[in-house]
Amino acid sequence: MRCISCESLSWNIICKKCQSNLLQASFHKRELENNIFVYSFYEYEDIKNLINTKYKFHGDRVFNILAKLAFKKFAQNFNFNSNVVAIPIDDHTRHDFSQSAILAKHLKSNHIKPIYNTLKATNIIKYAGKDLNFRKNNKRNFVYTGAKNIQVILVDDLVTTGLTILEAKECLENHGCEVLFALTLSDARV
Ligand SMILES: [Zn+2]
Repeated sequence: MRCISCESLSWNIICKKCQSNLLQASFHKRELENNIFVYSFYEYEDIKNLINTKYKFHGDRVFNILAKLAFKKFAQNFNFNSNVVAIPIDDHTRHDFSQSAILAKHLKSNHIKPIYNTLKATNIIKYAGKDLNFRKNNKRNFVYTGAKNIQVILVDDLVTTGLTILEAKECLENHGCEVLFALTLSDARV
């Protein structure tokens, strides 16, 4: 097959050379309103074609590689004095797999426990390419069915305006949960 990133012949969906380039993830920190921070590993523009495989059948393989390079490494270095729960945002499997669930899965460690299928958007409208006003007027309307009063790391593949993360945080807070921060694969700052 060909490497999905550089198109050279490869045994893997992302070739060894591209994987080692992707290993040099830099850690971005961005503050959304209400004092919540989003940490991300890649600039969206740099891995756009990889992120967009979430709409394709082979996307799970790509996301497993990216999650291993970024999220797993993060979890191994994460130290916290109590146990926290990683919650993927809206981990529906609309395209055979859920990219946010794959990312959360790789956070599993001594201190972090991923929980799936607890935070769902009831409005599944697509935000891609829409402006801030459209997004504000078409909220995700999250429903949370997980445990109350826990400490949470929110997980998603992409942060754009940050509205989805803020809405997810608000929903969790209504159930007595404390959102420590959000972790996304990439940041498409607008
Ligand atoms: Zn490559």
